Amino acid sequence: MTPDDLHPAIDPVRLDRLAETAVRVGLALKPGQPLVMTAPVEALPLVRRIAHHAYAAGASLVTPILSDPAVTLARFEAGSEASFDAAPGWLYDGMGQAFDGGAARLAVVGEDPMLLAGQDAARVSRVGKAQSVAYRPAMDRIVNFAVNWTIAAYPGAAWASRMFPDDAPAAAVGRLVEAIFAASRVDGPDPVAAWVRHNAALRARTEWLNGQRFDALRYSGPGTDLTIGLADGHEWHGGASQAKNGVLCNPNIPTEEVFTTPHARRVDGHVTSTKPLSHQGTLIDGIAVRFEAGRIVDARASRGGAVFAELLDTDEGARRIGEVALVPHSSPISASGLLFFNTLFDENAACHIALGQCYSKCFLDGATLSPAEIADRGGNSSVVHVDWMIGSGRLDIDGLRADGTRVPVFRAGEWAA
Ligand code: ZN
Ligand code: ZN
Repeated sequence: MTPDDLHPAIDPVRLDRLAETAVRVGLALKPGQPLVMTAPVEALPLVRRIAHHAYAAGASLVTPILSDPAVTLARFEAGSEASFDAAPGWLYDGMGQAFDGGAARLAVVGEDPMLLAGQDAARVSRVGKAQSVAYRPAMDRIVNFAVNWTIAAYPGAAWASRMFPDDAPAAAVGRLVEAIFAASRVDGPDPVAAWVRHNAALRARTEWLNGQRFDALRYSGPGTDLTIGLADGHEWHGGASQAKNGVLCNPNIPTEEVFTTPHARRVDGHVTSTKPLSHQGTLIDGIAVRFEAGRIVDARASRGGAVFAELLDTDEGARRIGEVALVPHSSPISASGLLFFNTLFDENAACHIALGQCYSKCFLDGATLSPAEIADRGGNSSVVHVDWMIGSGRLDIDGLRADGTRVPVFRAGEWAA
């Protein structure tokens, strides 16, 4: 890395700590493991430090795959109509093969969340769908947690300016830098120890929830009266989690959530989003949906409604939920008051649900279940997995046991016990 590659607002010491945290905590990369990494070109300073720490941890080969916003936009500026249904299936087949061969997966995010905001919604949706379908061989191994994987963030300049439009560009990057480093717990001299403590706190929550064996969660708050059945044999996860290859990794840097698999056919009532969702370059806000027997039968959004409707029509599973996650309103990312327009951060600011694909690891015996068994127990299936935020300081959640007993889980947005 040469000094002029790095934005002056980015402290190289903490950037290096973030790279080390991504490798040692996020991936817990093992000697001899190959690493497949995706990132925007702007994140090269972080990519290079990650490569250094990965090789220092014994990686056999680090393979970066870079994306560029100008190249992404070129398709919308000059691409033929047919190009909007094209996706590099060969690349994702190869990624799937790499995971089968033991490779770990690291994704660096940092691109402009509204890159495609001005583009035709139908074209954006076609690109997204083609991409999701082509990505399936790689995504299957990720959602089945076949290998250790993680996501980390780089403070991209366009992203920073979206978050802080009133600041000068350099000042905006500086504020995003601070927010990412704080949320990723790399501010202190020993981020690995900080993550050990954080993982222990999240584990105490998942152990309590797993001991309760709730049949359903009942949500009440402004615009929300919703009962979410939990999948049969569901298991709560949060923080560090063991992949099928035996590696205990942290799939998200940062993370504040505990989450499990809801029952795709036992969700009833209505729910209103509490934060905007940035999806494929479009901001979707004011979502209000009604569920019947797990299926969204009524959906509105005050902004980005066309893109939201296209999302729901992706496939049958896109109208059902595959994840339910609990995050206290006082979580550090929520307390920052910032909207990141990026799910990696925003989902950690509030309780959320995800439309689409479930995580098979969120079953007691998830590693041994076939797709048919997962579906039978209520696990949802889709080419999409899109989280959106339904938590706030005014949300109450009760756990419902099969015998009808109610146990307070959240009161006014915080853990009840
Ligand atoms: Zn989540
Ligand atoms: Zn999710």
